[in-house]
Amino acid sequence: MVTAERAREVAASVLDPEVPVLTIDDLGVLRRVDADGDRVVVTITPTYSGCPAMDTIRDDLVLALTAAGFGDVEVRLTLSPAWTTDWMSEAGKRKLEAYGIAPPTGRAAVRGPIRLALAVRCPQCGSLDTREVSRFGSTSCKALFECRACLEPFDHFKVH
Ligand SMILES: [Zn+2]
Repeated sequence: MVTAERAREVAASVLDPEVPVLTIDDLGVLRRVDADGDRVVVTITPTYSGCPAMDTIRDDLVLALTAAGFGDVEVRLTLSPAWTTDWMSEAGKRKLEAYGIAPPTGRAAVRGPIRLALAVRCPQCGSLDTREVSRFGSTSCKALFECRACLEPFDHFKVH
C-alpha cells in the first residue's frame, strides 16, 4: 500500500546512524514527506552542516521507502531554517539520555551577546559537576564531557 501516511511512517522510522536509538523524527531532522502515488519526496534538515551522517540517512530513506513499495524516492536537503536542538522531541531527549548521551539542555532560541553556560548533567550518575573536555566528541555534532563525580566521559549533544 503506497499512501502518504505509509510514506511518512516509513520515513519517520529511519534511525539516526550516530545515535541508533533515535529516529530522524525524534531528532527533528525529518521535515516533511510528500507522496503522490509511488513517488515520494522527503525533506530533511541536517543537524549540523557537513554532518557526515546525512549521506547515510539519505541512503537509508531511499532503501526503506523502496522496500515499502515506493518506486520513485527523492531526498531533499534543506538548510533553511537551520536545524535546532529545539526540534528534538521530548521522547527523543529521554532516549538520548538512556543511551548515555547528555541531551541538549535549555533552549537554543536564547540569542544575543550573552551565551548562557548551562550545566550539563552526567547521563551516568546525574551529577551536574561536569566539564567539557573537547568541543568535538565522537562526531562533530557532539562535545566530549567528563563527569567529576563518577569520572566517566560522555558525549553531549550540542545545543545550536
Ligand atoms: Zn557521573
